[in-house]
Amino acid sequence: MSLPLESPAQQRLASDLLAWGEDRPVAPPGVAAELHRELQRGLAEHRDAVTAAASARRDGRLLLTRTTLERAVCDGWQLEPEPFEHTWENVRSHLVIAAIVEDWGRDREVAIEPVVADVWQQEASRQPGDPGSRSAWLNTCGEPERLQAEVVDLVATFREVWPRIPAEVLVSDLRRTHTRRLARGRVVLRGTTDVVLDSHRRDDRARALVVDLRTGLPRPDRDRRSARFSALLWALQTGRLPFRWASFHVPEGRVEVEDLDVERLRDVVADLVDAVAQLGRIADLQPGAADHELRLSGGPWCDHCRRQAGCPQAVG
Ligand code: SF4
Repeated sequence: MSLPLESPAQQRLASDLLAWGEDRPVAPPGVAAELHRELQRGLAEHRDAVTAAASARRDGRLLLTRTTLERAVCDGWQLEPEPFEHTWENVRSHLVIAAIVEDWGRDREVAIEPVVADVWQQEASRQPGDPGSRSAWLNTCGEPERLQAEVVDLVATFREVWPRIPAEVLVSDLRRTHTRRLARGRVVLRGTTDVVLDSHRRDDRARALVVDLRTGLPRPDRDRRSARFSALLWALQTGRLPFRWASFHVPEGRVEVEDLDVERLRDVVADLVDAVAQLGRIADLQPGAADHELRLSGGPWCDHCRRQAGCPQAVG
């Protein structure tokens, strides 16, 4: 089976990202299950932290996401993040990914503009009555034509660089949310994979590729950690290992890849367990907790923290 490669950019992507035509690595047997056991074991070792952190939540469950991991860098940020706001950038990112998924599903058979218009319509009518929703933001956007044009441009860039992936060649799985209940349901691990390309073959090789789509400024460390998180989610969900995970930067058509390395997935497991330990430690602290009670670490993330104004470690 061959891919329909229509341009040098698509040939480059087939080589640099899909590793098309290259042998896939042998997947060490049982590793995905072992990663799951490691995670459960780590949570069991921090049973008190799990109980404290889960009990502090309204539904008695601790939700572990990419965001939890990101904020683990500083107790203060974990405790008092700025509330999420819809902005031009994050709404555009959402629309671009939604339009790529829609375009992929329609097999690129229509022009990009109507695809983007349909996605806009779907998003704008999802929760129009909720003033904090993305729908409300879209319905009051002052420059809808400019935003739609930016989304169209980015989807066009994606089309230029990515080949069409026929279903008979590879299995495509887009925007899949994965949920794993851990620690007897008191911890819920959740996240979404943007693009997973998998082989139809099942043998002793790792054959799937897990890709995060990025539309904002590249942030190499954060992007790498996010891609590893996606790979771990997929491995825990399927019981298999991907041969590679990657970030694809849509505006530049650029990829960052990491080939299968079980130790990197183990690092994510360790980070998740550390984040739970941290959340257990700070569960009893109040939003106004004194700085000396917290492990603080400043960085670019301080802009997203409500403690920034009076924090001795704040950066920015
Ligand atoms: S301002 Fe920065 S260093 Fe201070 S608590 Fe917030 S994230 Fe941590």
